[in-house]
Amino acid sequence: MSLLEIFDPKAPPKPIGIDLGTTNSLVAVVKNERPLAIRDCDGAAILPSVVHYGPRGEVVVGESAKRVAAEHPRETIVSVKRYMGRGADDPETKRLGPYSFDTPKDGEPNVVRFRVGSRAVTPVEVSAEILRALKRLAEDELRSVGGAVITVPAYFDDAQRQATKDAGRLAGLEVLRLLNEPTAAALAYGLEKKQNGTFAVYDLGGGTFDVTILVLEDGVFQVKSTGGDSALGGDDMDRALAEEMLRGLGRAPASVTPGEVRLLLDMARQVKHALTEAEVVDFESPLPPSGDGATSLSVTRPRFDELVQPLLAKTGLACRRALKDAGTRPEELDGVILVGGSTRVPAVRAYVAKLFGKEPLADIDPDHVVALGAAIQADLLAGQGQTEEVLLLDVIPLSLGIEVGGGVVDRILPRNTTTPAAARATYTTQEDRQTGFEIHVLQGEREMAADCRSLARFTLRGIPPMPAGLARLEVTFRVDADGLLAVHAREERTGIEQTVEVKPSYGLDDDTVEQMLLDAIDHGEEDLAARKLAETRVEAGRVAASTRKSVAADSALLAPGEEATIDAALAALDVAIAGTDASRIQLRLDDLDAATKDFAGRRMNRAIAEAIAGHKLDEIERTVEHAKGIEKAHEDKPLPPPPMSR
Ligand code: ADP
Ligand code: MG
Repeated sequence: MSLLEIFDPKAPPKPIGIDLGTTNSLVAVVKNERPLAIRDCDGAAILPSVVHYGPRGEVVVGESAKRVAAEHPRETIVSVKRYMGRGADDPETKRLGPYSFDTPKDGEPNVVRFRVGSRAVTPVEVSAEILRALKRLAEDELRSVGGAVITVPAYFDDAQRQATKDAGRLAGLEVLRLLNEPTAAALAYGLEKKQNGTFAVYDLGGGTFDVTILVLEDGVFQVKSTGGDSALGGDDMDRALAEEMLRGLGRAPASVTPGEVRLLLDMARQVKHALTEAEVVDFESPLPPSGDGATSLSVTRPRFDELVQPLLAKTGLACRRALKDAGTRPEELDGVILVGGSTRVPAVRAYVAKLFGKEPLADIDPDHVVALGAAIQADLLAGQGQTEEVLLLDVIPLSLGIEVGGGVVDRILPRNTTTPAAARATYTTQEDRQTGFEIHVLQGEREMAADCRSLARFTLRGIPPMPAGLARLEVTFRVDADGLLAVHAREERTGIEQTVEVKPSYGLDDDTVEQMLLDAIDHGEEDLAARKLAETRVEAGRVAASTRKSVAADSALLAPGEEATIDAALAALDVAIAGTDASRIQLRLDDLDAATKDFAGRRMNRAIAEAIAGHKLDEIERTVEHAKGIEKAHEDKPLPPPPMSR
């Protein structure tokens, strides 16, 4: 360590990379083209993600906060990342920790509020304290800090990403962008220099597990698939060990106080860390035994390996799923990267090697690798690094779409699309004289809107009345580099448009995402049947209405007896629509088609004759289009009108 450092007062602010972890956080910077973790005056790079709120309003972050956690469990927030983007009414929040919560008052946003002494704090505010501490650390080292790249788990949804960004801003950071943790790790390993390959990133931290399959093509990263579990990590190993310790002490779990739980978990973590190096660890219990139980305890590596097997098996499941989603077999992988403190555990390394059939890459400190990658990305974004461009592509974890007629989902951006991404689809009106559209934005894999997650609902009004199927609504979905969605809707004829940024009121955790995927598989067949029925009904309803209108308008063109035949076909179609058999509706629709074929032909001929008689071209187009409507299904799917359309 040098005693004297000379600062250039005019040196430009340095961009930083931040790994805002569930358990631990750290900040890194690129110096002399090398990424380095920034250390505090004690030489520690890792800042425990723990925030303590003292009785006089003082806020303590990191190691000192962690030390008082056992004594003040409610005023000391650990694993705040698990609460990011969650609603106050989310039942999970109660399960996650020993905290008390305030219920939001009327008009207050639906977010978690921790009650800490005389004040209430949100997860965004707690995270901002951690980020502020990291910023101070960076300022001590660099004097002037530029923008920051903050990493998030690949599975974070819109609300969780937004909350992370908000925390960054609250901490006074210019958030250059959010970066998926596994992508950051790949950058730290300089994988982009290999030009081509397929890699798996296995990240087992304290509280979250993420697996990502990355494909490198011509030096460009694409995240092929992601998977994981937001409630899986080293904390679970600590709990398994703590339970083992309680058994050794002969203590019933119910007899243990919250303070004792913390002491026990602290000891379990120390034992776990020691077991990474040693084959057996002897220690004194931090709590008294029950009755004549022993206070000297001992855990062997093989016993510990046994305790963590269920946890490892869970990671294996997520890995196999991610491989399947990416269409990759383990033997096709060019490398596996280990990320997260828990991958130091020998049983984890052995498991990963066996699972993927190759020795994982672990040269870079698995605790630092994400922050180092974030620093590299920050450096590149700030334009101070190498000139070569690194394109980072992440994926959308769940499909995004909108609700169309019949309550069916029309997918616009499918799951695992790389981001940033944009896609456009066109829709039309479902009813005659429909003057508005209801745009219902959905997330999920199910076929029916009711089974998906509703992200936003908005209406577009002011469309002049015209026949059903003539309006053309263009809907554009844009997901930016941070994974945030913006929906833009524009009616082409009138130019009426509207944009909404989708920030759901609270987020999904990995379990929910996983559950939604499983549900989609479980209900696959019935969903498709429901979708087919709903779509056929909408189409049949449209054709029936249009036929009735044409018959009323052009009765002069009907041949003798033709009206009765059409009426009978319409009545049969109505009966079929009321039923639940899509193929029957289709049959009756075909019958109606046959019954109206000649009539439709006569209408078409007349429309063309009128055209020749000198009407305006676009008028004719509309007439022809409308006449064709009886026969031909529209390509654009119809959107229902808003509930109170004028
Ligand atoms: P997160 O990304 O969730 O913040 P980290 O990547 O910092 O988490 O990993 C923290 C976890 O790693 C903790 O559960 C910690 O106990 C564990 N860990 C750190 N070092 C070791 C070690 N030497 N042996 C076993 N586990 C370790
Ligand atoms: Mg981590």
